Amino acid sequence: MTQTPLHHFSAAQLRESFVKGEYTAVAIAEYFLKRIEQHNQQLGAFLSILGPRMLLKAEALDRKRAHNKPLGRLAAVPVAIKDNMHIAQEITSCGSKFLHNYRAPFEATAVRLLEEEDALITGKTNLDEFAMGSSNEHSAYFNAHNPWDLGCTPGGSSGGSAAAVSARLSLIATGSDTGGSIRQPAGFCGVVGYKPTYGRVSRYGLVAFGSSLDQIGPFATSVEDIALTMETIGRHCPLDSTSLDLPAESYHLGTDLKDIKIGIPRHFLENLKPEAKKHFEDNLQILRSLGATTVDINLDILKYSIAVYYILATAEASTNLARFDGIRYGLRAKDAKTLDEVYELSRKEGFGREVKKRIMLGTYVLSAGYQDAFYKKAQKVRTLMIEAFDQAFASCDAVAMPVAPSSAFPLQSINDPLEMYLQDIFTIPANLAGLPAISVPSGFDARNMPLGLQLIGPQMCDVPLIQYAHAFEQATQLTRKIPPLFDGLTS
Ligand code: GLN
Repeated sequence: MTQTPLHHFSAAQLRESFVKGEYTAVAIAEYFLKRIEQHNQQLGAFLSILGPRMLLKAEALDRKRAHNKPLGRLAAVPVAIKDNMHIAQEITSCGSKFLHNYRAPFEATAVRLLEEEDALITGKTNLDEFAMGSSNEHSAYFNAHNPWDLGCTPGGSSGGSAAAVSARLSLIATGSDTGGSIRQPAGFCGVVGYKPTYGRVSRYGLVAFGSSLDQIGPFATSVEDIALTMETIGRHCPLDSTSLDLPAESYHLGTDLKDIKIGIPRHFLENLKPEAKKHFEDNLQILRSLGATTVDINLDILKYSIAVYYILATAEASTNLARFDGIRYGLRAKDAKTLDEVYELSRKEGFGREVKKRIMLGTYVLSAGYQDAFYKKAQKVRTLMIEAFDQAFASCDAVAMPVAPSSAFPLQSINDPLEMYLQDIFTIPANLAGLPAISVPSGFDARNMPLGLQLIGPQMCDVPLIQYAHAFEQATQLTRKIPPLFDGLTS
């Protein structure tokens, strides 16, 4: 009898099989480390691989099982961490030269919770520098590639995490989502990606980009594994003042959508290209076949979301990145002779173009003469968007939209920054309004690249939203597909 290769398992199945004694944690760790070793050069998904650390943890887990101690809900599951979250004593580079030598002195809460549930941390994943980008092309190190077509982007900024899960180099990965950085790469790589309600997962130990928008969430190969990870990391944390003080929830999974109303912002979606439109309509048909009713809602105000986001996110980024002064963290320019030169030259050498551009934009919109015209006005429009969503949710349980205007595009093919920023038109609204949103694989386009459906729920409705996504997944059975290039046997 041929055995199922370990990378075909879901996280839940792998845990089960470890608990039953079918595999040791060390065998699992060695298997996935080998896959990473075989494929990472091609894929560029990991910036660092934590092999020795992972094997030590695996040995400890095997002893734990041998002594019949209780095993965590992610026991022996390989999990990758986006490299803007701290693992104590390991490098957190944020995809930036600035932090190439920065070792985290403490552990991010999300990482601690994953380790407490016995996950095996595989390594730190590639990203656009400081999570600013939609294609991974702004990583200061190297590009991550899309496992379905290595000439295409895996999306960004959490492209490394999405690629790692899609190619099954890890079964779960963490991402951070400020304007779509979990959902868009998940959609591009054909995996599930989840941005929880703002405050559901602690941001403690996540390097801040836009603090009022940032949220940590998981990538996985199934909605069930997303639920498993959310049960682990979706907890109150006193170290993050915006953490929701709610009891941890358990995520039961449904298979139908009876009595569920799905809102469609038709007008906002009217510029979709014909292929994307047809695909989206087919997705709606599936939701209806599961018992949902679709209703039209008005979210026209979302057409301003890119403008509002690039004012607020850059304003917050310029404030957050002021801490990189060449003194406290990471790089210090060798030629600097005066204090001003320490700031200037360290930033000049350490930051890439996109980060510099955003710091300048953010500083501009916050400057005395322009604050009212830009920053304050953007805050007002953000409030109007929150109100529009509130109104929409009076007549529906969730909103459906595509994840992105198209499937993954070829690397280096988008040179106009505005066109790149438009990538996020459908994902940014959930960040501006603090809403939970999930990206589920929904099929393939004519180029055979994955497409995703996005469902957005009201604040705090993480559990029902994941249930709806599960129902869609069960009907479509698209989440377990493995990119052919990465489905060879691991010797
Ligand atoms: N692509 C968006 C940006 O460049 C979102 C990034 C993110 O969510 N971290 O800002």
